[in-house]
Formats: sequence, C-alpha cells, structure tokens
Amino acid sequence: MSKRKHENKDVTNEEKKLKPSGHWTTGLLKTIEDPKYIVSSDDLVTVIKDVYPKAEFHYLILPKEDISSLKSVKKDHLHLLNHMEATANKLVAEEKHKHRNFKISYHAEASMLRLHLHVISDDMNSPCVKTKKHWNSFNTDFFLKSTDVIEGLKENGKVILPSRDECKKYMETPLKCHKCEYLPKHMPDLKRHILKHVEK
Ligand code: AMP
Ligand code: ZN
Repeated sequence: MSKRKHENKDVTNEEKKLKPSGHWTTGLLKTIEDPKYIVSSDDLVTVIKDVYPKAEFHYLILPKEDISSLKSVKKDHLHLLNHMEATANKLVAEEKHKHRNFKISYHAEASMLRLHLHVISDDMNSPCVKTKKHWNSFNTDFFLKSTDVIEGLKENGKVILPSRDECKKYMETPLKCHKCEYLPKHMPDLKRHILKHVEK
C-alpha cells in the first residue's frame, strides 16, 4: 500500500498507535487472533468486533485467505464474497440486533490491510466517531454496499472502484444527518443531534 494512499484516510492517531510488532495497517491481522474480539469463525472467514466501533454494533468480516483489498478481488472470489455477505446477514438476524438497521458494506478505499466487510448498525452513536471523514466514510457512496460489489464483480470480473477524486469528494461532502434533513454546524453538533434518532 503506497504512502500517498494513506494521506486521505479517516484514521485517528489513536488507531494509528504503533503496535508492538508491525505497521498499524496490519492491526486487523492481530485482532483476528484475539479471542477477546472474535465473534465467530469458519473455514472461510473470521468475524471480529471493530476495536474502534463507529456505532453501537460494529463488526468486521475478514476472509481467511490473505486478500489485501477490493483491488485484489477476482471473479474466483465470488463464492467468498457471497459467503461474507451471508455471514453478515446471519449476524444481523441475531436476537440482540432485532430492533436495529445495519449496513453491510466495504469502504471504497480501506485503511487497514486484508479485505474486510463492515457490518454496522446505522445509529453512528459512538465516542469513536470523531471526524467528518469518519462520518462521510460510512454515510456517503464511499461506503459500497456488499450487494453492489457482488453484482459488479459478476458483471465485470473485478470490482470497479470510485476514482481517487470521487473518493476525495465523498470525504469532503458537507455534514448532514443520515436520518433527516438536519445540516449540523460541526461534528459535536451532529453527534448531539443524532441522539434524538437513537432508540432508547
Ligand atoms: P477501513 O477504513 O475500511 O480500513 O476500516 C478499518 C476499520 O478497522 C475501522 O472501522 C477501525 O475502527 C477498525 N480498526 C482499526 N484498528 C483496528 C484493530 N487493531 N482491530 C480491529 N479493528 C480495528
Ligand atoms: Zn437527524
């Protein structure tokens, strides 16, 4: 992964904290070995809790195969991506998620290594949501629906990703509530506002 690729990322210094071994971009590879964060695992995938969750429920599904990102996904991976999506749907159907809506999507440009599918409740209610980039990365077309990624892969034999400029535009989108027309002045305003949409 090039240095330039990371200039534009929604990663806070907390998340970049160097781990005892390896670059911060390899953090997920440590977490998939950590029983504290593993939710489930099978022959093809590991499901973990996101260590810096951007909502009340936030999971990541990683393949066992060492695929670095959507850019390396080939037609042969169709079965795997379908399995990742099916695993996400099963997780979302669990009792504790019953009254929640979830997004099952990939970031167009991921910060962290190994392909990972986000499974995230749509409340965005978390102290880890700190920046406009955090917000826009989950609430614009930067967040690619798994179903669309799979359809695209079937049609094109690879995943067609938005350009760097398009990604930049998504990140610079003015803040807007994802549940109503409210246009917040800044992140603290938005974070206060979204509480009114959170089910008590
Ligand atoms: P992405 O932009 O798609 O690469 O998102 C990476 C996700 O990994 C973010 O939601 C982070 O909160 C999360 N994350 C960062 N470091 C770790 C880690 N060491 N273990 C688990 N999740 C992490
Ligand atoms: Zn609102």
